[in-house]
Amino acid sequence: MEEILNYIDGKLIKPLSSDFIDVYEPARGRIYAKAPDSNEEDVQHAVEAAGRAQKHWMNSSISYRYEMLMKVVAGIEKHFDALALAESKDNGKPLWLARKVDIPRAKSNFEFFATGIKHFATAAHEMNGAAINYTIRHALGTVGCISPWNLPLYLFSWKIAPALAAGNCVVAKPSEVTPMSAFLLSKICMEAGFPPGVLNIVHGLGHKVGAAITSHPDIKAISFTGSTQTGAAIAKTAAPMFKKLSLEMGGKNPNIIYSDCDFDKMLSVTMRSSFANQGQICLCGSRIFIEAPIYEKFKDAFVERTKKMKIGPPDDDATKVGAVVSLEHMNKILSYIELAKEEGGTILCGGHRVELNGEFENGYYVAPTIIEGLSHDCRINQEEIFGPVVTIMPFENEDEVLRYANSTDYGLSATLWTSNLQRSQRMAAKLDAGIVWINTWLLRDLRTPFGGVKDSGVGREGGWDALHFFTEPKNICIAY
Ligand code: NAD
Repeated sequence: MEEILNYIDGKLIKPLSSDFIDVYEPARGRIYAKAPDSNEEDVQHAVEAAGRAQKHWMNSSISYRYEMLMKVVAGIEKHFDALALAESKDNGKPLWLARKVDIPRAKSNFEFFATGIKHFATAAHEMNGAAINYTIRHALGTVGCISPWNLPLYLFSWKIAPALAAGNCVVAKPSEVTPMSAFLLSKICMEAGFPPGVLNIVHGLGHKVGAAITSHPDIKAISFTGSTQTGAAIAKTAAPMFKKLSLEMGGKNPNIIYSDCDFDKMLSVTMRSSFANQGQICLCGSRIFIEAPIYEKFKDAFVERTKKMKIGPPDDDATKVGAVVSLEHMNKILSYIELAKEEGGTILCGGHRVELNGEFENGYYVAPTIIEGLSHDCRINQEEIFGPVVTIMPFENEDEVLRYANSTDYGLSATLWTSNLQRSQRMAAKLDAGIVWINTWLLRDLRTPFGGVKDSGVGREGGWDALHFFTEPKNICIAY
């Protein structure tokens, strides 16, 4: 049984209570590790360590911070295999996916913000010969970073890398469901010679550790990724304390397909945007709207390809659909499939748990599922399922599909497939989404603003937005 430890004040330590929680391997449905069940005393210990480290880190030169972050990059490269294996084992995702996406992206996050801080500049505003304004930006102090289980190290590093680059000390909490890669990262930081207290990783449950981070008066900002429900709970605590807040939350993204699109490209990308990472990506397009003339053609091709997807153990290179993250989450997904039937939907493929043989027989596998015959406003099309489940619906015209697409409380991303340039521009402007992809999906440039509107988010991550979030501006006006 592997034992995960907190990383506080530069050391790997047990929680003060000595209590641990079980960590499951979803592919086998068994406990394989234990992680600290920390509480507010551990968070207090981490905040104090961060407070002691703050002055030195905040005032350190940009090149020093660059070098420290680049040592983490080197550490991720050195431990690449172990990190990919840990991510796949902890989460259930195919190992090839962790190798292709999660770990390279975690590395890029550190690399991007290590170099980004070197180019980060502030503005000056001249007032017609009367004065010059110049703006300086300070690190905030100690900040809290809270992340989910679907892309564990990828999203954890997406927050802590800009926070550290900007000169903040960090108290971070990975998801209790997938804590292993953050634990390995703490070892990498120790190897890199990180000063004690600059980064502290406290493991444990959301309502204990997450809530203690959110409510701690010495934590000046919270960068959170997770469900809308948790985001609302965090905002309720943090807003009256006037903390800076960045909330990246749930999605129910539309994928709109016109008959004039490049059908083959659309189909192959739609396979990914529907089922990649078992549909557990906040950006997956779970509501697919197809222009009526190609509805039947799309349906036949999409169902045929989906039926051929190999559902299997994560370490098999041929596996396209691995395990979903937990028993609880699998049951949630299956309950939504039952609801879809009650709401009058027809299951075109999937719709059930898959039981593999041998050592994987207790794993949490759900067949990729396509549902038709539902209205755009039923619960299945309004609530986030976050699994390998999509609905398909025909539409006749632009106004109608925009109304359907914008009908949820969410507004994270949207995908549009068309070769009509005017239409794509017109619709992109009207879609309620922070991110619109046209004739592509999940093509990411780390410089662009990332985030959602409506119940999907507050604020933006990525590029200068992240460095702005993790710094406070001060304008200085000097009269001539
Ligand atoms: P979650 O909200 O249950 O948990 C996210 C994190 O918050 C975990 O670390 C958890 O321990 C912590 N937490 C839980 N309760 C807390 C509380 N009261 N106070 C502080 N922290 C608390 O989400 P999840 O199930 O881990 O992740 C899935 C969700 O994340 C989905 O809704 C998905 O759409 C969303 N997500 C959004 C994005 C995005 O960029 N918008 C990216 C990935 C995932």
